[in-house]
Amino acid sequence: MEQTILKFENISFSYHNLSGETQALNQVSFEVKKGEFLAIVGPSGCGKSTILSLLAGLLTPESGNITFYTDEPGAPAPGIGYMLQHDHLFEWRDIYRNVTLGLEIQKKLTPENKSKVEKMLEDYGLSSFAHKKPSELSGGMKQRAALIRTLALEPEILLLDEPFSALDYLTRLLVSADICRIIRASKKTAILITHDLSEAISLADRILVLSSRPATIRKEIPIHLSLPDNSLLAARNAPEFKDYFNQLWEELSDEK
Ligand code: ADP
Ligand code: MG
Repeated sequence: MEQTILKFENISFSYHNLSGETQALNQVSFEVKKGEFLAIVGPSGCGKSTILSLLAGLLTPESGNITFYTDEPGAPAPGIGYMLQHDHLFEWRDIYRNVTLGLEIQKKLTPENKSKVEKMLEDYGLSSFAHKKPSELSGGMKQRAALIRTLALEPEILLLDEPFSALDYLTRLLVSADICRIIRASKKTAILITHDLSEAISLADRILVLSSRPATIRKEIPIHLSLPDNSLLAARNAPEFKDYFNQLWEELSDEK
C-alpha cells in the first residue's frame, strides 16, 4: 500500500449564492494511498461532503490541485464511485434492475458484466432477492444493493458519504463491517465520511480530523489495532480502541 492514488493539495473552496459567500475549505491537503481506507470526521457543516464533491468532480476547487495517479502513464484516471447516505433505489425496478442501472446507462450491460453483478448478488446474500422490489428488503440489504450498484461500474476509488447513518444501531454495526470487508476484499481505495467515531476507528487505516468551517486538517491519526481474529466487531474491543476514541473526542470537543 505504498503507491499514492490521489493528492488533494492546498484546496480552498467557497460557495456563492444570493445571501453571500460561505467558505467551506481553507487550504486542505492530504494524500491517499492505493488500497487505503481513509475516514474523515469533523463537526457537522464543516465541509466534509464538499471534499467528496470536489474529488468526484462535481465541484471545482477555487485554488489548489487535485491529482489522480494511475499505474501506467497515459492510462485513464481511476474511476470514482460515490455512495451517499440516502442512496435511493428505484421502487419501480427490482433489485437486479437497480444494481445494473449504472451499467445500463453507460451502455456496459455486457454478458460479462451481468455475470459479475450476479456473482456479487450471490456473494452478498442478495441473489434470492434479485427480483424483489426495494421495499421488500431490510435497510441493510438495501445498503448492500446500493454498494453493488456502485461497485458494478468497477470504480477504483469509493467515496462514501455517511452511508450507514440511516440505519439503526445494530444493523449499522453489521452492515458497516460487511461493507468494509467487501471493499477490502475487492482492494478498492475508500474515503468514508462518518460522524461515528467508533465506526471510523474500527474501519479505517487512517483518520483525518477536520476543524469547524472553513475546514482545515486538524489532525491525522493512523490507526493500528491489534486484532487477534481480524474481525471488525472485535476491533471495538482492541486494547488501543479507547485511546483513539479519547484522542478523537478531545480533538473534536476542542472544536465546539
Ligand atoms: P458537512 O458535510 O461537513 O456537514 P458540507 O461540506 O456539506 O458540510 O458543507 C459545508 C458548508 O457549506 C456548510 O456550512 C453548508 O451549509 C455550506 N454549503 C454546502 N452546500 C452549499 C451550497 N450548495 N450553497 C451554499 N452553501 C453550501
Ligand atoms: Mg455532509
